[in-house]
Amino acid sequence: MGASGKFFVGGNWKCNGTKDTISKLITDLNSAKLEADVDVVVAPPFVYIDQVKNSLADRFEISAQNSWTGKGGAFTGEISVEQLKDIGCKWVILGHSERRHVIGEDDQFIGKKAAYALSQDLKVMACIGEKLEEREAGKTFDVCYQQLKAFADNIPSWDGVVIAYEPVWAIGTGKVASPQQAQEVHVAVRDWLKKNVSAEVASKTRIIYGGSVNGSNCAELAKQDDIDGFLVGGASLKGPEFATIVNSVT
Ligand code: PGA
Repeated sequence: MGASGKFFVGGNWKCNGTKDTISKLITDLNSAKLEADVDVVVAPPFVYIDQVKNSLADRFEISAQNSWTGKGGAFTGEISVEQLKDIGCKWVILGHSERRHVIGEDDQFIGKKAAYALSQDLKVMACIGEKLEEREAGKTFDVCYQQLKAFADNIPSWDGVVIAYEPVWAIGTGKVASPQQAQEVHVAVRDWLKKNVSAEVASKTRIIYGGSVNGSNCAELAKQDDIDGFLVGGASLKGPEFATIVNSVT
């Protein structure tokens, strides 16, 4: 963890859980001992956000896993930023690799969503990351820069944005990036921000790592200068393990 502000840990519950399992997770999270100086944000599936908001301690902030590109209306199946704010969300995850590569969202669509969310004061976890074949072809930086540029071209300001570097090959695979691999990309992202946005944004924007983070590998990753926190999938569904990750702040 470098000098970029408070350590940030997000829990992306994805499309998991039932009222019962989520109630148990909430009980575990509410009783966990967490370092005070960490922003902790959980992203339940839409339909459980209200349940979580009503029973999870205020120490946690709530994120959505997606949002619409503009005001609500005739958009069947979508959820608007206004609705998310209405039920207490402070954040949204955008550009997640599952939305890019499984659902087929492109850079421009994601950029538009980010711009609209920020315009309504919904903060954004902006996800970027390369696929395995892109890494093997030596294109990791190019892919990340292109995804970053789509955010930069659309959003008016980086206030309220956390960048999540999540290599696709590490997500849900158990193959975590090594601390050196993650640090190398985080430094490159910071340099890109410095050159293309501003030195101030580069130094104050938090860059978090995601992809098979767990209770055993978080401490080594958290020691890296440019890793300012984590976005956690699978391990965020286990309260005590998620607490270990939150407490890995150095
Ligand atoms: P994982 O997912 O921790 O299960 O690899 C991370 C993410 O998709 O944000």
